[in-house]
Amino acid sequence: MRKKIIAGNWKMNKTPKEALELVHNLKNKVDTDKADVVFCVPAIDIIPVVDALKGTNISVGAQNMHFKDNGAFTGEISADMLIEAGVKYVIIGHSERRQYFNETDETVNKKALHAIEKGLTPIICVGETLEQREKAITVDFVRIQVRSALKDVSAEQARHVVIAYEPIWAIGTGVTATSEQAQEVCAAIREVIGEIYNDDVADEVRIQYGGSVNGSNAAELFSMPDIDGGLVGGASLKDDFGGIVNY
Ligand code: PEP
Repeated sequence: MRKKIIAGNWKMNKTPKEALELVHNLKNKVDTDKADVVFCVPAIDIIPVVDALKGTNISVGAQNMHFKDNGAFTGEISADMLIEAGVKYVIIGHSERRQYFNETDETVNKKALHAIEKGLTPIICVGETLEQREKAITVDFVRIQVRSALKDVSAEQARHVVIAYEPIWAIGTGVTATSEQAQEVCAAIREVIGEIYNDDVADEVRIQYGGSVNGSNAAELFSMPDIDGGLVGGASLKDDFGGIVNY
């Protein structure tokens, strides 16, 4: 039985002071018995948020990292830096990074491999554009993204990976995929993982849905057989996040 995992993606929101206010407001409102809970915060907020979450079971995640250990990569952050600061998860290949920061299937794969080697759990984002959905190529496209992201990842390593299915047309738009649409793609992701590895690994990998999840639609989405929780943007900055986790 897969434990649900619900991660908040704060994106580029909350100064360190504001982050602490949000954490103090939310930390007692989320029930970590039923689901693993992760706050994916801006890099500058990681250290104070890790500190503020001591004594809770809420984990801290980063929103990106570089695939090299260190070096002349101005503005980047390494896995070792994140780990020393107390980070457990890292979002890899969010569509906003693919769109605005030239993230490609190749860099997503390099980052995923590096995160896993270092002991971080990657939350690997995949998902189609509206145009791709309208052309009915969603499943084919997402299957390719999953295969590329997991290239050279061993079966043992793959068990611990989290995949977030995030249709781009649903991110930050208030338009949510129906539970049937989300289930169809999450099931296809599980199927492709079964093809790459085996049914055992496919059964263990947690697959999230992300895209305008809120307190009103979370229960239905998360009740689908292949949806193991959510990656939540806008609603993770509000009290609503408590309602989503405790759906
Ligand atoms: C996200 O940022 O991953 C996301 C799904 O955003 P939102 O919930 O705001 O659509």
